[in-house]
Amino acid sequence: MSEGTYRRYEPHTIEAARQAAWREREAFRTPPLNADEPHLYIKPSAPFTSGNVHIGHVRSYSIGDAYARYRRARGEDVLFAFGFDAFGLPAELGAIAGGETPSAWVERCATHMRGQLERLGFSFDWDRSFLSSDALMYRWSQWMFLTLYEAGLVYRGTGTVDWCDHCQTTLASIQVEAGGTCWRCHNPVRLIELPQWYFKVSAYVEENDRRLLEREAGGKWDKVAMDSQQEVMGRVDGVEVDLEGPDGSTVTAFTPYGDALDQARFVVLSPRHPEAESWAAEPGVAEQLENLRSGGWERSARDAQTIPLLDTGRTLPGPAGAPLPVLISPVVDARFGPTIALGVPAEDKTDEVLASRLGLPSTVESDASPLAAGRPAVRYKASDWVISRQRSWGTPIPIVYCESCGTVEVPRDQLPILLPLDITPTGAGNPLAELEEFVNTECPGCGGPARRETDTLDCHFDALWLWVPACVPPESREQPLEEILALPDLRHWLPSERLVAGSDSGNFVFDQRTVTKALRDIGPLNFLSDGEPFAGCLFHEMVIRDGRKMSKHLGNVVDPDELLERYGADTVRLAVLFAARPQRSLNWSDSAVLHCHRFLNQVWDYSSAKLESAGSSSESGETPADTSEHLRLKLAQWCEAAVERTTADMENLEMHSAVRNVMRLFDRIKDFEKRVLAREPSLSPANVEALLAALSVLVQMLGPFAPHIGEELWLALGHEEGGAQTPWPGVSFKVPA
Ligand SMILES: [Zn+2]
Ligand SMILES: [Zn+2]
Repeated sequence: MSEGTYRRYEPHTIEAARQAAWREREAFRTPPLNADEPHLYIKPSAPFTSGNVHIGHVRSYSIGDAYARYRRARGEDVLFAFGFDAFGLPAELGAIAGGETPSAWVERCATHMRGQLERLGFSFDWDRSFLSSDALMYRWSQWMFLTLYEAGLVYRGTGTVDWCDHCQTTLASIQVEAGGTCWRCHNPVRLIELPQWYFKVSAYVEENDRRLLEREAGGKWDKVAMDSQQEVMGRVDGVEVDLEGPDGSTVTAFTPYGDALDQARFVVLSPRHPEAESWAAEPGVAEQLENLRSGGWERSARDAQTIPLLDTGRTLPGPAGAPLPVLISPVVDARFGPTIALGVPAEDKTDEVLASRLGLPSTVESDASPLAAGRPAVRYKASDWVISRQRSWGTPIPIVYCESCGTVEVPRDQLPILLPLDITPTGAGNPLAELEEFVNTECPGCGGPARRETDTLDCHFDALWLWVPACVPPESREQPLEEILALPDLRHWLPSERLVAGSDSGNFVFDQRTVTKALRDIGPLNFLSDGEPFAGCLFHEMVIRDGRKMSKHLGNVVDPDELLERYGADTVRLAVLFAARPQRSLNWSDSAVLHCHRFLNQVWDYSSAKLESAGSSSESGETPADTSEHLRLKLAQWCEAAVERTTADMENLEMHSAVRNVMRLFDRIKDFEKRVLAREPSLSPANVEALLAALSVLVQMLGPFAPHIGEELWLALGHEEGGAQTPWPGVSFKVPA
């Protein structure tokens, strides 16, 4: 184009050339640590190795990448990298379907997905990417498990799981069909209690709540992200009262209905509450509680009408003095966490159902007894979660069971405990538990025979650390974890300036916030004094079509590869940003793609034509009278205003609005030309220069959204190639005389 020969906009040629140039000059390599330079870590979400990049990924990474490129364009050092979330059920199911080992499956998927993401031109530092299922990486999970276990934040308890008797296996909820049957054999599924490993979220739930207010004040957490944290916490405000038992013991009961204490009709304990045992001391009752915990109940019995409700046969004097029956039921957990609650049928639908099951009237005749005083109290639904799974595609838990020593930790210098890679799961049982050479081992304590824990860690546990290794330079990745955690790199990059992830990431983020506080208190992350891993957080909504979630079943899936093939990466990226605010669902329509494709074509053609005329006009000797200086001034003002507005949008990750500002500037530029030509027969050199200067501003601002065409035009406009990103325009710039 620089030769003045017109060529059409050919996105594939341009994109291949730019991507090759970026690779060549290692444009996105994380800059070396330099504390004097502004620097930040932008955290993209860690994709599941599902096999294909879907349009939701494209949306997520287009937002994050535009932000990363914008910050680089401002001269800042940016770390932008992720690891694949490669363990877990989707990979196991993919492997079962494909008849291959999960490790082969995830390897193949990750390679394919990386290729797709590279063709889309995302500026990840690929040297820092990884698979969570690599032994070098899952030792993070094992190290974290031991560290949290020693701090009392990982513990052994019993938990409820879905169980198929026929397949002799636990099931994830997505493996339970709508009718409560097994996905594999279609037999009924039961809920049973199994010994499980837990992560003690409850230890930090109050601090997470408190810190959320600071997040809000910081202004870098958007509303969707804030709301997700509220929802995960499930904060319930109410009052608690102390009920004095006849034997002098005190029971503290909670209710959200502080004004209706006199309407309390029963007391109900969570089976997980530590006092549940003592209230179920009667032989018949103890048996029932045991049965509730170990024997399981029908999976469908989860609503108030059918959920197990155990009458202890005992009573407590209620807040109004009348005796209240004491019950035990898991119905408490989902509402207030593992606590003790007052049943207030007059105020609460669920309590009303429970009362009718007990044959209690739901309203009480007035009672003269004085009320016990309630004091303000808070309960959280967020409860300790089960981190172990009876599956083979996950991190082995670094615990062995020895007949003499009991439960023994595997010493850290023996990590990682390797997961055998030749396992092909079938969906029945846990193949790891059947592998004698894995199970049988030596006790690290006494050297005697011992058996390994054969549960693996839920891939959700990997998410606890998945945001950290991107900060580790590749050459340090093999060092012992204690050394890695002490690297200056972590202090340099953490906390992450901004997490950009889907709105369904609330749980992950909540647990990442929790573990950061734990590791702050334990020591390794003590430099994060507020225990927060993300200074900012943007959650975007998903991409839907015709108002519905995309699914193969509905046949409404948008294939990014097809779009890429047809329109090129820049159009696809621009279109997902243009089509909706990040915080809104993006209802897919081809019109956004067509609109953006037309826009890029026009920018290309227009710039080409102007460059060509700039090349030829310098040869014509005549200088027409200049009557358009005020128009040039106007154009410069338009540019300034556009830069100012777009910059503000970029700061707030309002990409949707930023793209519109850039498009509007293009209209202004064309408008300028029209107005000049209304007064003068042709563009004077000064006007051409002004126009090219305005186009430079345009392509600079286009760069973060449509980086290939942005850089190509930047070069065509006579600027030098280099660096990570074309620079962002300054707010004020020279008006050509
Ligand atoms: Zn089954
Ligand atoms: Zn031993």
